[in-house]
Amino acid sequence: MKPFKLIQPTHENEALQARSSDGSEYMAAGTDLLNRIKEHVASPETVVDLKKISGLDQIESDDRGIWLGAMVRMSEVSGHPEIQRRFPAVATTVGHAATPQIRNMATVAGNICQKPRCWYLRHEGYPCIKNGGTGCWAKDGENEFHAIFDNQICSATQPSNLAPVLVAHDAIIEVQGQDGVKEITAGDFFTGPSENPLMEVKLSAGEFVRRILLPAETETSLWAYEEAREKQSFDWAQASVTILLDRGGRKGDHRVILGAVSPAPLRREDMEKKLNGSDDEATQAALIAGEGATPLSQNGYKVPMLQGLIRRAVRVVRSREEG
Ligand SMILES: Cc1cc2nc3c(=O)[nH]c(=O)nc-3n(C[C@H](O)[C@H](O)[C@H](O)COP(=O)(O)OP(=O)(O)OC[C@H]3O[C@@H](n4cnc5c(N)ncnc54)[C@H](O)[C@@H]3O)c2cc1C
Repeated sequence: MKPFKLIQPTHENEALQARSSDGSEYMAAGTDLLNRIKEHVASPETVVDLKKISGLDQIESDDRGIWLGAMVRMSEVSGHPEIQRRFPAVATTVGHAATPQIRNMATVAGNICQKPRCWYLRHEGYPCIKNGGTGCWAKDGENEFHAIFDNQICSATQPSNLAPVLVAHDAIIEVQGQDGVKEITAGDFFTGPSENPLMEVKLSAGEFVRRILLPAETETSLWAYEEAREKQSFDWAQASVTILLDRGGRKGDHRVILGAVSPAPLRREDMEKKLNGSDDEATQAALIAGEGATPLSQNGYKVPMLQGLIRRAVRVVRSREEG
């Protein structure tokens, strides 16, 4: 591990100042960043630790919804009674991630800004396009866990459990930068490699996530989250499906978001249209799951896996409707 200078600012402005040099990185709990430093795939000169900035670890409600401070821990989200009641899909999805130990440490901002789990990206010996090299080594290599959609430039998937459900809720990511605070909807925040292969989220140099808003107008008790993974714990999803029905009580305002099958959470409006309450809606939605997919040599199994998850998720969400 290359030594680095640690700065622990107590104010947001100090953090922005400290992060203004090229060789610096923000750190929340460090469960991802420190691993990448140990693996020699990140080598910041300076690490700007956000833990001591007051106010970033709060969960607050107002007219707009529930705000999650950047430094709120994942276990606080999954165990929070108001989030469980108003945004059950968020509480449950976060509660499925990683391990209890990691959820007790890891933060919501760190979760949505974590780097993909591609083994080529995380191996110092491979100059892949995501770490400044060229090409995608997984495309013709070991690609069992990689993307089946939008995988031409880079086939790493977005690893965050929170990401798809934030997109489903049109969550707002509040970002602090040198020019002040701005808001980005989750659907725009998570990006694919065609925009900038080095980035998975839309943060400019030096900007940091300040808070995340779960908007009141997208609350719904009609939700389902289904995922498949090799191990119950200490693992990542191979594929996931998040369904929200009738968001904010608006009939037909549905969202279907696929996770872990593309570089950014994938909204499927074609599937949303199939959710019309008919007897065969689950089959109809599942049938089109593979449309647009370009599976690689080892990950074609993700298409039938998605179909099974979609069928299950539709059954779950309809059973919630029936009470
Ligand atoms: C065995 C294992 C299994 C896992 N399984 C899952 C899983 O199933 N689902 C899942 O979602 N995750 C999983 N994870 C990943 C884990 O959830 C992340 O490591 C964690 O969420 C990162 O949070 P952190 O606070 O430690 O972030 P850090 O490691 O501190 O930071 C991660 C990245 O985010 C950046 N960052 C942090 N805070 C901010 C901010 N406020 N603004 C801008 N950038 C910021 C950092 O610069 C860094 O690049 C797993 C991890 C392990 C080790």
